[in-house]
Amino acid sequence: MSGLVLVLGGTGEARDLAAALDAAGTPVTSSLAGRVARPRLPVGEVRVGGFGGVEGLADWLRTHRVRAVVDATHPFAAVISGNAVAAAEQVGVPLLRLERPGWSGRPDAGAWTWVDDSAAAAEATAGLGRRPFLTVGRQGLDAYVGPLAAHAVLARVVDPPEIEVPAGWEVRLDRGPYTVEGETALLADRDVLVTKDSGGEKTQAKLDAATALGVPVVVVRRPAAVRGTATVGTVDEVLRWLEGRPAG
Ligand code: NAP
Repeated sequence: MSGLVLVLGGTGEARDLAAALDAAGTPVTSSLAGRVARPRLPVGEVRVGGFGGVEGLADWLRTHRVRAVVDATHPFAAVISGNAVAAAEQVGVPLLRLERPGWSGRPDAGAWTWVDDSAAAAEATAGLGRRPFLTVGRQGLDAYVGPLAAHAVLARVVDPPEIEVPAGWEVRLDRGPYTVEGETALLADRDVLVTKDSGGEKTQAKLDAATALGVPVVVVRRPAAVRGTATVGTVDEVLRWLEGRPAG
């Protein structure tokens, strides 16, 4: 084995992990899907683009003699997480999932409208307000277009949407970081906030602002976790797990 750790990334946690591994002198390659035009790059080696399914990922693990895989992708990136389980099993490489905790434990979460998917979120939102603030990412936007065609939507995305949005929508390009003050200013003029249960601290300012303003919140639940993967919530736990798996 080469001692290389593959971090499946695209999240702040993945960048934090790559920085910690690099600082510890552990060889690390971070993998990004290539969805964002100008991604925030992690420290260390980076590869960009899909692997070509389970077989492609398994080949990559073999070719690069990977010692361990850490799946630190977004909680809603279910396909790559499933592929990681299958490929790691096929090649016999240890796999750990790094996943930030969701927001369901927040004291205000009980007041939110929890739904299973984007379609249900769009329907719930249509009934809750006329001026929704959508923070669901660019890829998920299409499910909202029909139900919210006549609503005065503010949609915040990192890159411009690939779909045509209704004339009454405003698209705001931004990637944060977001402050409670900034989110409060945006939400003051809105009557419902829509988000995925992305979790963690980096994007929760909008929830603090919504709660303070009394703006209703619609939250899309996370997809079911991939079965059979050990999961931790912090970079330190990943480092301890790796200590138990020294490079061969
Ligand atoms: P997905 O639906 O789970 O994956 C679709 C395909 O994209 C995978 O089969 C894989 O292609 C490729 N892929 C995904 N993540 C990859 C990675 N880190 N490295 C290399 N290939 C990757 O993924 P998604 O939901 O579109 O998310 C794509 C990326 O954006 C992820 O890295 C994720 O962490 C990040 N992200 C997602 C969200 C979200 O809400 N979904 C939010 C923030 C960031 P192949 O089969 O060809 O390997």
